[in-house]
This record gives sequence, structure tokens and C-alpha cells, in this order.
Amino acid sequence: MTAPHYLIIGNGAAGLSAAEIIRQRDRNGRITIVTNEPHLFYSRPGIAYVITGQVSEKQIISRTAAFYQEHRLDLRFGTVIRLEPAQQVAHLADGSKISYDALLLAVGSSAVPAPFPGRDLEGVLTFDTLDDARRVIRYAGRAKAAVIVGGGITAMELAEGMHHQGAHTHLLQRGDRLWPRLFDERESAIIGQHARQADIHLGYNEEIEEVLGKNGKVAAVRLKSGRELKCQVVGVAIGVKPNLELVQGLPVETDQGILVNEFMQSNPPTLFAAGDVAQVRDRWTGRHNLDVLWPSAINEGRAAGYNMVDVARGATPRYIYDKGSPFNAALLFGVHLTVIGRVGGQAEKDTAELAHLSRGSSNVWTAPFTTSYRSAWDKKGANSLRIVMAGGRLVGALLLGNQELADPLRLLIEQEVNLSAVQDTLMNANGNLPKVLLEAWRDWHQSWQ
Ligand SMILES: Cc1cc2nc3c(=O)[nH]c(=O)nc-3n(C[C@H](O)[C@H](O)[C@H](O)COP(=O)(O)OP(=O)(O)OC[C@H]3O[C@@H](n4cnc5c(N)ncnc54)[C@H](O)[C@@H]3O)c2cc1C
Repeated sequence: MTAPHYLIIGNGAAGLSAAEIIRQRDRNGRITIVTNEPHLFYSRPGIAYVITGQVSEKQIISRTAAFYQEHRLDLRFGTVIRLEPAQQVAHLADGSKISYDALLLAVGSSAVPAPFPGRDLEGVLTFDTLDDARRVIRYAGRAKAAVIVGGGITAMELAEGMHHQGAHTHLLQRGDRLWPRLFDERESAIIGQHARQADIHLGYNEEIEEVLGKNGKVAAVRLKSGRELKCQVVGVAIGVKPNLELVQGLPVETDQGILVNEFMQSNPPTLFAAGDVAQVRDRWTGRHNLDVLWPSAINEGRAAGYNMVDVARGATPRYIYDKGSPFNAALLFGVHLTVIGRVGGQAEKDTAELAHLSRGSSNVWTAPFTTSYRSAWDKKGANSLRIVMAGGRLVGALLLGNQELADPLRLLIEQEVNLSAVQDTLMNANGNLPKVLLEAWRDWHQSWQ
């Protein structure tokens, strides 16, 4: 029997994690990874810290050419333009084709393009890739002023980065707070205060009507309020969309992303999807949700890789992907943020195009509750903590500043620990929420030792 051929489209978190697991399980199989980015594997969230100068490009490129060689991963730089899943063949833009025994679509998602006139002017930027980070550095580095639009983490990261590159920076929000899908007014106020201290100008209830150009380059933006802001670069971070082009017209079930079963399989069973492009059922909401999160991409990629080996050998897949609580940790204007599980927030209401997830975010965070839930908040100095409980269990938490409770909270949420006995104490902790939570955590932890 010839060794199976595994084809992975996408060299990001999901694609590479799948390749690593496949190589562990199958020493002889051929593994081909196709990528349309001209780089070895790098940390995509890391590009936010490249533009703020906190890390170098070199530090985020975490796999060497030797690594690919050692694991016999055949990395091909090119673009897959068409699939024939029934024939198990993928076609590349250079005219070549690759046949496979199992295929993983780990093609990620892309920034939603600017919806306003002037979007094609030089200096209107989105922020998906390492090459985008280089463009941000180049354009913001020689701009006097920058305008960024978007209500999520990427918009804030872009603002911080463009400011760091020397541009006088405006961050515009359509609504009346930062990251409305996630933050409540109090959390937005805390981050907003740090942004202002960092000399970022925040504009609420402001939208771009048009980007105005001169000689094909950005010269200003006209806002819906009629105000004009002179600028030489515009950052657009209004959400992301899974890259579904390759499955269009195929009998592959899609919703916002590719719908996969618990084995990360689509249709036919030799076709798998993982990462930003996949929509996976989760135990928290009972629905198929998108997580455009780095850890989710890694875990989904691993599950897919494991099952691809079985399917390529003609066996039934066995590894059930058990989606954990969505988690993100980030640094915004010098404030550490951790968000875990379902924390509520206000879903974007306006146009369908703008209602997508922002980078580093999950549908689960804002999924509506079918049962009643309770929430408590505490703030001390620069630190704040919000918890959400339902059915006597912690289901979500958002920490700003002090991160001492991040791991305990994650475990309490992940393990669905029953906290009914202390629920009322937690809800009425009046300034003592961290202390009461820590005690609940210690009690639970000790009961396991
Ligand atoms: C600025 C930024 C900040 C972020 N911050 C966070 C954060 O704080 N926390 C967090 O959890 N997540 C964050 N994320 C999200 C996280 O990076 C993604 O969820 C994760 O990278 C998804 O991995 P993936 O493998 O699914 O896709 P990707 O990493 O996007 O990889 C997909 C790859 O497929 C390639 N590809 C696509 N189509 C084709 C084709 N037709 N042919 C060949 N190759 C193709 C793409 O070029 C790309 O290289 C951030 C992302 C960005 C951009």
C-alpha cells in the first residue's frame, strides 16, 4: 500500500498544527502544505506587537526551514484556486494540480474591506498578515496623521501601532463605546482612558463617509457628521470573514464558515476544515459558532490532523473535538485583558457586512443566554473584573489589569464547577469579588488534591 498523501491548504495555526499531529501519527505519509503567503509559519496575533515595536519580525516567525525539512513537510508557495473533492484533486494558480487522500482547508479569514468610497486609495490598509504589518509601518511611519475605524481588538491594536510609528492617531467608533461586542461602558471607559493617556484621539458615534484622495493617495477622511480629518493613512478593522471562496459551488455545507462535524469533517468525508474558516459545534451554546481565535485554530487543527490519518487509511475517525471555552489574552494601551467564556456584550446591529466578528474574538462570547444569568463587577484602582454566572456555574469572565485570577477563572469555567453555594456571596461581594472568588477557587482546588 502506498503511503497516504495529506494536503493542507494554509500554513497558519490550524494548518501547521494539523501537519505536526499527522507527522506524529504517520511517519511515512506525504504531507504537503500550500500557502499563498511568502513566509514560514509565524504568529498572526504577533503582528500587532510588531507594529508597536514590542517584538521583532524575527521573534514571531517561530518555525525554521529546517523544521519543515526535519518533519518532511513539503511547503509549497502558491495559491489553490479550485477543488474537485469528488476526485480528491486541488488546482493551483500556476496550473499544477495536487491529488490527495485527505484534505484540510485551513485557509483562515480575511478583513472585511472598507465599505466607503475612496477604499482603493493608496494608504487605506487592512491588517491580516505580516506583509500588512510591514505596510502599516511604512505608511504610518511617514504619515502626519492616521485614522482608524473599527470596534474591536484589531482597531485598537492598529491605533496603538500607528501611533507608535509616529502618526497623530484618531480611533473612530460607530457606537458610543470601545469593542461593544465585548466591553460594557465601564470597561470601555477604562481602556478609553488609557488610550487617551497614550495620546490616541477617540471619536465616538463617528463613521467615515468617504476617504478623500490627492494623486491617488489618502489625503483626508470626511465623516458622516460632516467633519473632515486630514490624514495620510486609514486603517480599516471592521471585522473578518472566513475565506469560503474555495468551497463556493461545491456541495459543502456552509453558514458563516464551513460547517464541520465533531471530527472536523465536512463533505465528502476526506475533506476537513479547521481554524477561522470552520464553524464548530460547541457545548456552551449548543450551536455551531465561529471562533477567530489562535488557541481554537491550534486545537481544531490538531483534531483535524488526527482524524485525517484515520480517514486516509480508510478507517473511521475517532478523535472528537471538544471545544473548550473561548479564551483570549491581549495587551491594549498597556492594560492586560483576559476574556473567557460567555460575557454578553452588545452585538453589532447595523449592516450585515459590519456584523462579523473582529479578530481574536468568538461568537460564543456574545451568544444570547436561553436561561437567566447574573453578572457581578468589581473595580479597584486600575483593575476590574466582571463575572457572569448561569445555573450556579461561572460561564464567563473579563479581567482588565491584574491577571492573578485569569487561570483560576479559566479552570472554574472550563470545568463547569458548581458554585451555587457561593453564588449569592459572589453576586453581592461589594468590592470583595476577587477575594471571594479566590476563596471559592482554593476550596475547589483543595477538594481535588
Ligand atoms: C492583527 C491580529 C490580531 C489577532 N489577535 C488575536 C488575539 O489576540 N488572540 C487570538 O486568539 N487570536 C488573535 N488573532 C486571530 C488569530 O490569529 C487567528 O484566529 C488564527 O491565526 C487563525 O488561524 P488559521 O490557521 O485558521 O488561519 P490563518 O492563520 O489566517 O492562516 C490561513 C492561511 O491560509 C492561507 N490561504 C488562504 N487561502 C489560500 C489559498 N487559496 N491557497 C493557499 N493558501 C491560502 C492564508 O494566506 C494564510 O496564510 C489575531 C489576528 C490578527 C490578524
